Amino acid sequence: MGPATRDEGDDAVGDMFRLDEDMADLVLEYCRARLALEEVPLDRPGERAALDEALDGIVGRGGNDASHVLRIFETVLAPAVISCDSPRFLAFIPAAPTKAALLFDMVVSSASLQGISWLEAAGAVAAENQVLALLARLAGMPGGSGGCFVSGGSAANLSALAVARDRGRECTGHERVRVAVGEEAHSSVASALHLLGIRPLVVPCVDHRLTGAALRDALGRDESPGDVVAVVATAGTTNAGIVDDLAGVGAVAGERGMWFHVDGAYGGAGIFSESLRPLLAGIGRADSFVVDPHKWLFAPFDCAALVYREPEHARRVHTQHAGYLEVLHGDAPGTWNPSDYAFHLTRRARGLPLWFSLAVHGSDAYGRAVDAVVERARRAAAMVRSRPWLELVREPETSIVLFRRLGWEPQDYARWSERLVDEQVAFVVPSRWEGETVARLAFLHPGTTDEVVEEVLASTSTP
Ligand SMILES: *Cc1c(COP(=O)(O)O)cnc(C)c1O
Repeated sequence: MGPATRDEGDDAVGDMFRLDEDMADLVLEYCRARLALEEVPLDRPGERAALDEALDGIVGRGGNDASHVLRIFETVLAPAVISCDSPRFLAFIPAAPTKAALLFDMVVSSASLQGISWLEAAGAVAAENQVLALLARLAGMPGGSGGCFVSGGSAANLSALAVARDRGRECTGHERVRVAVGEEAHSSVASALHLLGIRPLVVPCVDHRLTGAALRDALGRDESPGDVVAVVATAGTTNAGIVDDLAGVGAVAGERGMWFHVDGAYGGAGIFSESLRPLLAGIGRADSFVVDPHKWLFAPFDCAALVYREPEHARRVHTQHAGYLEVLHGDAPGTWNPSDYAFHLTRRARGLPLWFSLAVHGSDAYGRAVDAVVERARRAAAMVRSRPWLELVREPETSIVLFRRLGWEPQDYARWSERLVDEQVAFVVPSRWEGETVARLAFLHPGTTDEVVEEVLASTSTP
């Protein structure tokens, strides 16, 4: 290779790391326009053939003009991503990040902010910990509680249950420990127990709720209840938004020296809300508590908070050791390595968008936003009740409304769901309740209006 060629190569490499002002304008303008939308378009499921055609050859040995690539994204790819931050997204669990959080997410990206260790990222870690301390305080957990932000509730449940398992083994001296879960625990809990090699003790629910009495009964009937070292309670089931009897379950856990894990990935946001706090009574007894800010605390993906009552137990389980890492593990007071509190090492400082938004708006505004969504669900339930062809499955406790359309078969719900997204009215998918297919509306966006709910319900009047 001659010198000329090498120079060319060096330039090409250098270009990747120099800001191209035109590309910056293009991308930032796209972001600004998206952020400025009063309501983002709902968009729709993608067609494989059209996506393949648009992507054909775009990633190859040579590059493309940024404007060309962005145009493909804007015109073909983005419309094939249903916007979970649309006020018309009422399926699964939607998202509704604040503008402040979205803007600051761009800062986290632009500055490559990581939050692995105190040595590398004290500024980011201190701010994330300020948010974790607020969550712990609102939940009623003691000072000294702490943890880290992980990618989601699934990662948080797995990390916490690994600690519960090891702590249980330590306390009982038994290798084969088990964890009690309610029948309605989230699928990620079953998955975590599978990965951890732990058998669950599945406790029958009472009206879809895990109660202290049901847990006590199940332990009473069990052949070796001493092996059951932890219990998982759900603060807001994903299907119906039902909160377990946290006080009762926590009390039984306390009596028996069991680890008490509260999965509040969705409903844990209620600690900010006046109206939901009574429902969450007992949450402060948790040994570990999970809440997903990317769900009902208005943060962008991917952000789950994991808080331990005694973080030292987690640190012993999750700290990674290697020659080049030991420099991180000094025990100088006031230092904190988020990498020590879950099964991860490198991590984005994903708590910072929430931190910025909380600092800008204050936690009261979050409480009001959560309350507004609870009120939204109550009004939707009333709207269901006022239509004789619909039947409410149960009163919503948090922000999920289940109802049936009298006379509909499962395929009618499926067709209805397709029609709604086709006409861009809403993204709604059916669910199952006690073996029956039903309609499910999950509210989370404070911008979802009565009119949207009206349109969705009106569309059920024709068979
Ligand atoms: C969503 C959810 C999870 C899983 O969280 P991810 O962020 O999707 O991994 C766990 N538990 C409950 C109750 C949930 O609602």
